[in-house]
Amino acid sequence: MVSVEERYDHLEKTISGYNISADLKQIRAAYEYARSHHGAQMRRDGTPYITHPIQVAQIVAEMRLDSESIIAALLHDCIEDTDSTYEDIAKRFGVTIADIVDGVTKLNRMQYNSMEEEQMENLRKMLFAMSKDIRVILIKIADRLHNMRTMEYQVPATQRKKSLEVMEIYAPIAHRLGMQKIKWELEDLALKYLDPVAYDEIVRKLEAESEEHTRFMSAIQSQISDRLAEMGIQNATVYGRVKHPYSIYRKMYAQEKTMEEVYDLFAFRVLVDTVSDCYNVLGVIHDLYRPILGRFKDYIATPKPNMYQSLHTTVIDKEGVLFEVQIRTYEMHAINEYGVAAHWKYKQGITSTGSEKTYEWIRRLLENQEDADAEEFIHTLKVDMFSDEVFVFTPRGDVINLPAGSTPIDFAYNIHSAIGNTMVGAKVNGRMVGFDYQLHNGDIVEIHTSKSANGPSRDWVKIAKSSEARSKIRQWFKRERKEENIAQGRASFESELKHMGMTLGQVTVPEVQNTVLKRMGYATLDDMYAAIGYGGLTAQKAVNRMRDTLLQVTRAAAVEQAAREAAAKAAREAKPAPPRRVKSEKGIIVEGLSNCLVKFSKCCTPVPGDEIVGFITRGYGVSVHRKDCPNADPNRRANSEQGRWIKVTWSDDITDTYSTSLDVVCKDRVGLLADISTALSTSKVNVTGLNSHSTADGFAIIHIVFSVSDANQLGLVMRKIHQISGVMNVNRPAG
Ligand code: MN
Repeated sequence: MVSVEERYDHLEKTISGYNISADLKQIRAAYEYARSHHGAQMRRDGTPYITHPIQVAQIVAEMRLDSESIIAALLHDCIEDTDSTYEDIAKRFGVTIADIVDGVTKLNRMQYNSMEEEQMENLRKMLFAMSKDIRVILIKIADRLHNMRTMEYQVPATQRKKSLEVMEIYAPIAHRLGMQKIKWELEDLALKYLDPVAYDEIVRKLEAESEEHTRFMSAIQSQISDRLAEMGIQNATVYGRVKHPYSIYRKMYAQEKTMEEVYDLFAFRVLVDTVSDCYNVLGVIHDLYRPILGRFKDYIATPKPNMYQSLHTTVIDKEGVLFEVQIRTYEMHAINEYGVAAHWKYKQGITSTGSEKTYEWIRRLLENQEDADAEEFIHTLKVDMFSDEVFVFTPRGDVINLPAGSTPIDFAYNIHSAIGNTMVGAKVNGRMVGFDYQLHNGDIVEIHTSKSANGPSRDWVKIAKSSEARSKIRQWFKRERKEENIAQGRASFESELKHMGMTLGQVTVPEVQNTVLKRMGYATLDDMYAAIGYGGLTAQKAVNRMRDTLLQVTRAAAVEQAAREAAAKAAREAKPAPPRRVKSEKGIIVEGLSNCLVKFSKCCTPVPGDEIVGFITRGYGVSVHRKDCPNADPNRRANSEQGRWIKVTWSDDITDTYSTSLDVVCKDRVGLLADISTALSTSKVNVTGLNSHSTADGFAIIHIVFSVSDANQLGLVMRKIHQISGVMNVNRPAG
């Protein structure tokens, strides 16, 4: 068994191997600090706890990270599992290291309770949101890798849970950060617990054939090496490997093949000094073996989204065995294996100006990703970086996603209205806080409720940041405080009336009151008062509505009376008198009436030249329809309201333009909207609205609202649009 000291010595040796200026004194101090704080704690495998932080630091060292990362890795479980504190670590090792340790500690609280994609995406997002320093994620990945390597000592439930997390969260993150080697190992370890039967089968078969595999690989290796030497390509390294179990597993699964049928089990690598050597080697390989058409990929000219660079080709040897050859420079290789970590190393020499710079750089890295999934990832990452969201935990470890600036009130209502409504106090990270406390990423929020709580206070609406919480609070007032709301609403309504110089008696006459209530969707006046009381409606808006309606009713009552008399008279007289020419209203002459309130119906939007008919409305004057509008159908005109239909004509002195609309049915294509816009503007019409929606059968309907002077101009527009390619039909909507 390897002793703790031996493990530590090995770590120091690894560090010295790549970083001659490493701060070995501080690193040892961190090791001793962690060792004494973890004390007699043991791991499940029976080793002293300190072996875990040392091994995590070892993985971090293999990523070739800096001294601060090594120190933070050694201390990563101190805050979580020992009596050590953030303050103590900050005092001894500096704030930067304390922040990294704190970041890793917060990520440890991340739990994986749900299989829902939304939760997983939240977790991935939060991981980045919380990691102001990329080193937090790198250490967390190293931590998880070591835990996976020692997972056999855990109970099966834990093994499965942690393995699922690895597949869903850590391996994708390692991939996105370009850390190929760690991604593979994580995937293989997770597969071992998620599908042990398949994993065992793959590993067993690989082992059984390993001698044969080795023989094949060394034969190929020397063929290539010999030929490269002949061709004078210097300093090339050639080696073969069998693909890793999870990648074989995926191929079997995706292509429904047995292991024998997965043909490209082998991959060879050729590492050289320069890019031009890479292409020379490619020529040599294609000369030695027959290349498979369509399998050559140049990731040097076009790097993969995660910065991966290499030439890939698949070839077939004389015995008919297929294998892949990857050709790259040594430098590319380091970056491919360690991804971000390798880049991070290159950044070390340059003084970084805080976390924003670091983010900027990750952002650029990730922006090179091009698949749709990555696009979403970049979007979410950006959202986090420019922080309009905050991620916090429930005491059970679920992640709750709230708008930035959210308070315990938002949190409580996000969990459930009942929690919000009975909330009496809130704790954040174990400490009592005020209801207006602003939540931070990673906070653990606990809400205290009481059955005897008084319910939310009206101030909460102002404190809450999320519209969800605000509307739930209003809901509560609406439901629970009806009497109070009515009284309060009535008071503010009456004071607003008074302010406008009106009386309650004026607006509570049935014509006014009932019209307004019906339009605003309230059954009774009390309901409207209640709405004012809980804040769903302002008193000012209610009073304005009442006033407008009162004015309309008063004005229209007179017009209606006159109109009815005229219509009755016309009906009585056998021979109608020739229409009196009177001054038109909006270009409309209403038979027998002057100065009459006229409006054009929205259903059929008549324009001058259309045949029209008028309808005397209750309280809004005469509404003008096209004669062919379904709402002016002769059958309808014959019913009990027939006395309300009245003859209207266009006057000769029209100067106005008239708003009307068209529905264009078309097969959607690129440039269609532009063509329609051109047709409209060359017809000199004024467009005020344009929207389109697709129909289920693959067509689009474009609805255009615009003004014309008359039916001739409208007809011209319709013909122009009809001539556009892709347009099936141009209709004037009615009814
Ligand atoms: Mn750990």
